[in-house]
Amino acid sequence: MNCFYHSAVPAIGLCKHCQRGLCPECAAVVDDVLACQNRHEDEVHKLEVLTARNILQSERVRSVYMKNFSFYGLVGIAFVGFGWWQLDWLGLQALLFMALGVFLLYAAIANYLEGRKYK
Ligand SMILES: [Zn+2]
Ligand SMILES: [Zn+2]
Repeated sequence: MNCFYHSAVPAIGLCKHCQRGLCPECAAVVDDVLACQNRHEDEVHKLEVLTARNILQSERVRSVYMKNFSFYGLVGIAFVGFGWWQLDWLGLQALLFMALGVFLLYAAIANYLEGRKYK
């Protein structure tokens, strides 16, 4: 493949915006990718910023889910454990604690599974 702007010169890569072949003279490096010099540098830069922001966004969402997972998980285990421990003394009330704990563990698992989607 040859440069789109100089048909006699072999291309070294493609512009990320228009996918045209570029020779060393026409290629500009923007954020580690190639762009048509003085033509698509801005477009490619905007594209890269957008991509970077999306990656950052999904990492943040994932970390929120993982934080919820460990919080609900710990509190759930504590409730179930407390209910189990107090079962002989509290009776039905202890069962309520355990039910709440199971519900929290369920929420923890749901958060974990949801968070895994954002890898
Ligand atoms: Zn060229
Ligand atoms: Zn271009």
